[in-house]
Amino acid sequence: MTSSKVAPDRDLVVDLTRELIRFQSVNPPGNEQPAAEYLTQRLRELGLEAEIDEVETGRANVIARLRGQGPGHLVFTGHIDVVPPGGQKWTYGPFDADLVDGKIYGRGSADMKGGVASIVTAMAALAACDFQPRADIILAATCGEEAGMLGARAMADRGSLQGARYLVVAEPSNLDVFIGEKGVLWVKIRALGRTGHGSMPWLGINAVSYMARLIPRLEEYPFPFEESDLLGKPTISVNMIEGGNKVNVVPDLCELTLDLRTVPLQDHQAIVAAIEALAHEVARDFHADLRVEIEVQEDVGPLETDRTEPLVEAMIASVHAVKGEAPVVGGVTYGTDAAYLGPGFNIPMVICGPGAQGMAHQPDEHVEVTQLVQAAEIYADLARRLLG
Ligand SMILES: [Zn+2]
Repeated sequence: MTSSKVAPDRDLVVDLTRELIRFQSVNPPGNEQPAAEYLTQRLRELGLEAEIDEVETGRANVIARLRGQGPGHLVFTGHIDVVPPGGQKWTYGPFDADLVDGKIYGRGSADMKGGVASIVTAMAALAACDFQPRADIILAATCGEEAGMLGARAMADRGSLQGARYLVVAEPSNLDVFIGEKGVLWVKIRALGRTGHGSMPWLGINAVSYMARLIPRLEEYPFPFEESDLLGKPTISVNMIEGGNKVNVVPDLCELTLDLRTVPLQDHQAIVAAIEALAHEVARDFHADLRVEIEVQEDVGPLETDRTEPLVEAMIASVHAVKGEAPVVGGVTYGTDAAYLGPGFNIPMVICGPGAQGMAHQPDEHVEVTQLVQAAEIYADLARRLLG
């Protein structure tokens, strides 16, 4: 190719974003199949190979390719499920995809159907100008990201992205470049005591009182970590507790769920073992017959990509080339599909996508059309740098 820039189709990215928003792929339950079918059909019309990859009934991923000659594929990923619109009132209908003053409104506009549309538009632009990449350029559109990362997990289990070398997550970053994400560890602790009449508490074993003693011990426990300059320190937060059901009955059951966000080099198994040991220690001091059970509900490791990794350098250069200014390079406190796709295929990841991070899960979520177009330009530029 002679020209150094690929001009993405503005109408296409706008149209795709709006059409995708109109599919109400709210998770739960997800029901991404109709959006996946629509996406597959559009990709084929644009001259790209595209396949539906069913994960469960009504839940499907889409994998599309612009074929290259060998391995070393560049994978762009985005999820097609959204969170519910929430109880607050929206100025624009959450699934109407209104286009007002250069912004598209709707649930999923920023998080992250806009990002998916930008990927498709970039691939279509590259296909239209006959770009022949060294390896495949892949869109991995996932279902079920907003609860348990169902689709990404299935792709990793099935080896769907064999030969991949680079991973770009199009989650909203305002087109800044994030190269780290915290791990997620949700641990449920169940205390089993003994009921008794509320007027004779000494005959029962009060599971709520036990939990009240355990909470401060958990909050001040010195879980070992090395502070990351990208991700900072790990956190622990007691976010759910349930116990007792009658004012005159000593509660025999109390359940508490912890939300831990971890940084690289922390060992999730060691953290769970420490929580378990602490829970048993407090139980022993409390009552010999109090029993404790531990259940891990979510276990997604932290990620950090080295700044010298070619993918990171190329992504920074592409953003700079398109926007005329260097992006901020940082990390995020939440997990993305990269938590499964990165380790699953042993590839480095970067996060860069259209829309503001703070827009995700908010009422009146929107994305600027300018950013959608810029994202498509950035992705096309990146593909040429890495696979040209
Ligand atoms: Zn998202």
